Amino acid sequence: MEERQQYTEEEIRERLNQCGLKATPQRVRVYEAMCELGHASADAVFHQLGDGQGKMTLATVYNVLESLTDAGLLIRRPSFSSKMFFDVHPDAHCHIYQQDTLSMTDFRDEVLQRSVEERIRAQLPPGLQLDRVEIQILCHAHES
Ligand SMILES: [Zn+2]
Repeated sequence: MEERQQYTEEEIRERLNQCGLKATPQRVRVYEAMCELGHASADAVFHQLGDGQGKMTLATVYNVLESLTDAGLLIRRPSFSSKMFFDVHPDAHCHIYQQDTLSMTDFRDEVLQRSVEERIRAQLPPGLQLDRVEIQILCHAHES
């Protein structure tokens, strides 16, 4: 269900440039890690990057994630464990949040997403405008 995006380093540089960001080595590495992970907290990206050359601090990873988010390449997805996740797909879609593994995956159902948005938009109190609807389905693994 999860669609991983595979970009070459050159494509990543281009995407960063298209969003008005200079393709610094740190931004390239963090965005590359996010493309591999799909949804990840700053901690998870930090661990994914490991101890290799040009090791970044957790604070730097977080700052780079924020700049990628401000540029529209990522979107924040708060989770029920109160851990902040970042998502490489900024479009509106549903998520499964697995509470035993604290992991987030896409649950693509455009009809569900759109119908919930439409119902909410039709019933919003006057003076309010809908920003977005986050549908998060809470699950855990079960023994069959
Ligand atoms: Zn997603």
